[in-house]
Amino acid sequence: MVHFNISLRESHSTRYPYYIMSTSAVTAPRKKRLSEGLTVTQKVFVRSRNGGATKIVREHYLRNDIPCLSKACVKCQDIVVPDAANEFPRFILSESPQVLGQGIGKHYVVLDTNIILLAIDLLENPDCFFDVIVPQIVLDEVRNRSYPVYTRLRTLCRDSDDKKRFIVFHNEFNEHTFVTRKENETINDRNDRAIRKTCEWYASHLAKQGIKIVLVSNDRLNREAVEKTENKENYITKSLYNYVSLLANGDEIKDLIPNVDAADSLEDKDKEDMADFTFPEYYSTARIMGGIKNGVLYQGNIQISEYNFLEATVSLPRFSKPVLIVGQENLNRSFNGDQVVVELLPENEWKAPSSVAIDSEHFDVNDNPDGDDNEEAAHNLHSTLISDKQRRLLARDAIQAQKSKKVQPTARVVAVTRRSWRQYVGQLAPSSVDLKSGGIQNVFVILMDKCLPKIRIRTRRAAELLDKRIVISVDSWPTTHKYPLGHFVRDLGGIETAEAETEALLLEHDVEYRPFSKKVLECLPEEGHNWKAPVDLKDPEANSKDSQLKNRRDLRDKLICSIDPPGCVDIDDALHAKKLPNGNWEVGVHIADVTHFVKAGTALDAEGASRGTSVYLVDKRIDMLPMLLGTDLCSLKPYVDRFAFSVIWELDDNAEIVNVDFTKSVIRSREAFSYEQAQIRIDDNQQQDELTMGMRALLQLSIKLKGKRLAAGALNLASPEVKVHMDSETSDPGEVEIKKLLATNSLVEEFMLLANISVARKIYDAFPQTAMLRRHAAPPATNFEVLNEMLQRRKGMSISLESSKALADSLDRCEDPKDPYFNTLVRIMSTRCMMAAQYFYSGAYSYPDFKHYGLAVDIYTHFTSPIRRYCDVVAHRQLAGAIGYEPLSLVHRDKHKMDMICKNINRKHRNAQFAGRASIEYYVGQVMRNNETTESGYVIKVFNNGIVVLVPKFGVEGLIRLENLTDDVNDAEFDEVEFKLRFKPKNSNKIREIYVFDSVEVQVKSVLDPVTSKRKAELLLK
Ligand SMILES: [Zn+2]
Repeated sequence: MVHFNISLRESHSTRYPYYIMSTSAVTAPRKKRLSEGLTVTQKVFVRSRNGGATKIVREHYLRNDIPCLSKACVKCQDIVVPDAANEFPRFILSESPQVLGQGIGKHYVVLDTNIILLAIDLLENPDCFFDVIVPQIVLDEVRNRSYPVYTRLRTLCRDSDDKKRFIVFHNEFNEHTFVTRKENETINDRNDRAIRKTCEWYASHLAKQGIKIVLVSNDRLNREAVEKTENKENYITKSLYNYVSLLANGDEIKDLIPNVDAADSLEDKDKEDMADFTFPEYYSTARIMGGIKNGVLYQGNIQISEYNFLEATVSLPRFSKPVLIVGQENLNRSFNGDQVVVELLPENEWKAPSSVAIDSEHFDVNDNPDGDDNEEAAHNLHSTLISDKQRRLLARDAIQAQKSKKVQPTARVVAVTRRSWRQYVGQLAPSSVDLKSGGIQNVFVILMDKCLPKIRIRTRRAAELLDKRIVISVDSWPTTHKYPLGHFVRDLGGIETAEAETEALLLEHDVEYRPFSKKVLECLPEEGHNWKAPVDLKDPEANSKDSQLKNRRDLRDKLICSIDPPGCVDIDDALHAKKLPNGNWEVGVHIADVTHFVKAGTALDAEGASRGTSVYLVDKRIDMLPMLLGTDLCSLKPYVDRFAFSVIWELDDNAEIVNVDFTKSVIRSREAFSYEQAQIRIDDNQQQDELTMGMRALLQLSIKLKGKRLAAGALNLASPEVKVHMDSETSDPGEVEIKKLLATNSLVEEFMLLANISVARKIYDAFPQTAMLRRHAAPPATNFEVLNEMLQRRKGMSISLESSKALADSLDRCEDPKDPYFNTLVRIMSTRCMMAAQYFYSGAYSYPDFKHYGLAVDIYTHFTSPIRRYCDVVAHRQLAGAIGYEPLSLVHRDKHKMDMICKNINRKHRNAQFAGRASIEYYVGQVMRNNETTESGYVIKVFNNGIVVLVPKFGVEGLIRLENLTDDVNDAEFDEVEFKLRFKPKNSNKIREIYVFDSVEVQVKSVLDPVTSKRKAELLLK
């Protein structure tokens, strides 16, 4: 199914019906009167995959017991009936709602679909929109148009009881408000009429209470239809802009109105002249569908280059390499991550990827936000869209491409089928702000994500917002505008304050960080921190409360301990080892029994599933599950009884598995070690107690496990991981340290891997279609092309991609005797060429594709961290089902639902990693701020106009532009074959040549970029 993006400017005619269950046939109305209400029979056409339609008939019961949910109402309290869960609906709309200006007085709001799609941010704003009625037909339309907005609206309706008071009114099931479609009436018109009917009913229903109904709609025709209604005493309609104008705090809120609406409300005097500047129009739906079917158009997700925002790639299954999209016109208003449809350009326009680095934030800095669309006169399309500067860069590139014959197919975007638009964090571009202007003005917002264009917003608070981090929403990108239009949402606080920057990066990475809701917290055990595991598992009272208790094994006699990073409070794993009489080893891995507390289908479960993972920032942890579980009841703390899920092996001396057993258990950890403490204990020969002996055995076995893993071809990759030490008193970042690894890190890791593998086999065996697994695909050879070319040219080395074993061995051979860091550097660069591992359900791939390339195992899952990863929660439930401990929830046996879970946790996992890195980056910037130093770095990329240098000590990398290397840019030479840049350094007469992999001394400075207000490492070549 292709989803099309619909511009919010389109009005009346674009109202969509249900796209699957379209009520497109004329109905055969009123069948018969039942005791409880009316039945309406509808013929419904269900569109099938091949484009045909099947007719089905569905019956629709109309009811007379659907309440208005107003506390002021005297009638509805008596008619309500309990729902399936035997609960009565709660009356939420206030008795004394907000008063609106112009003599309108107390009112409830009814929202039209276009308002929700346009202004969901505003609806969520705590300072406006109270007592809101969402007709069910509107909710349905929103769901069909935008699932993310639908989810936010549902959350509003569910969680806004006492503050905002949003309700859904089931107009389609109510005999007073249901309308049948008239002959020749479009679905849109019918739905509009249903909304108006709902308003009319409410207005007369609450007339005695003096509460008026205000329909907020930006659809002029719908509003005009209201004006024509005869019986409309208590019932009026307003556009969003006019409604907000009537609020007491309207002036403050006007800035938050989406840009399209503001433009509409400005009438002709201020309206933009939509003339000269135009992007190509998108192709029609029919043309796209036809084109994709005929194989002349292709659909994929667009990825904007991190180094050049005017260049993007789209991976398409038909091509071995991604196709290139170059230049603003061909990108045609697509955003990073959008789902787009592309068309190939003629072969003579194919080219190699750019060897130039360009940042969006420094590009066209002097554009005028007011004149973005109308000042450039009647130039032709090309000269309007491509500046001379761009042209030169493009031309130079084209020549390079011809020389090297490394051409790639290029394409252009002909439609955006799904927007990746969300809220973005940025700051005003100072050059676009007119400080003298007191009124509303157009300004540009530079987004923190440098792959995105700047956004034009209208605001009257420009001066005040100048040094703030702000949140904005994108509303539209008409063909006539060079930059997209958006609106201000809220400000996060001053730039470079820790609070604003932390919140900014959480928002930027879509991390849910609000406190857990009351409904979620209600799912926790009543006893709170006083919860205790039963002393006796056979205790009848405890068994009466927990029918599974008798199936739990008592392992409190085992000498179990945990080994974690220092200061770890969410301990989700613990271990033990014991010599068996036959000379083999009993080894146990014990994982927090999170699913004892988090039951499938509860609000707590839904919240965990939605968050997907905990997020670790330098100074903050955003939990997936409430603290009570994470740091107490589920944390395998020492000296207390805790429920666990245990994997117990019998291993021989060679660490081969003789036997494996899984059981829910109760354990008592004897000690919580840090890696370092564990290492000291193991190394101390004075210690000969049983616990220490067990730890030594674990260490020996783990070394054997690791040896076998590496022999099988597991990869030992690297990333420049650093740790920021915080001053414990001031919470200021102190120093940066590269993470050290001890043998005990490896000890824990090996047994966790073993547990994950054993559990993966078991759950796949039990649930061959829906087992929750994790795979890691082999990297395509093309990913390594550039790195291999660099290695061959510069060092005469190469990385083999024949197998993971071959890759691992060739990485080992990448040694430079003169430079001990070189091998690590190659590993860092190789890591970036690898595919990302992903969660999947077993039915989605065939067995050979389950392979985890990096670990060199045939099957894998995540089981060992259920406190902080949702995959593990699912794996726990599936394992419990597999061993017959308790039946598995249907949700985890349904391919479609498992697919949704996998997609979400993959996305959340990626975002969490990015957020963590961004947090480190920010604090490293703060550390460097006070410590300007000279460090050694490595050249990892050479461009036409600069070099990229990685500084291992801080884990930072930065582009050093040619302008900063030399005074004579035109005299510099770039040799693409040799990966060399040749130039005359500043204040020197001696020519310097820099190659990729060169070790260079750089001055590291932390600077605040005046355009983006982002602090970043500025590197200068010594
Ligand atoms: Zn009522």
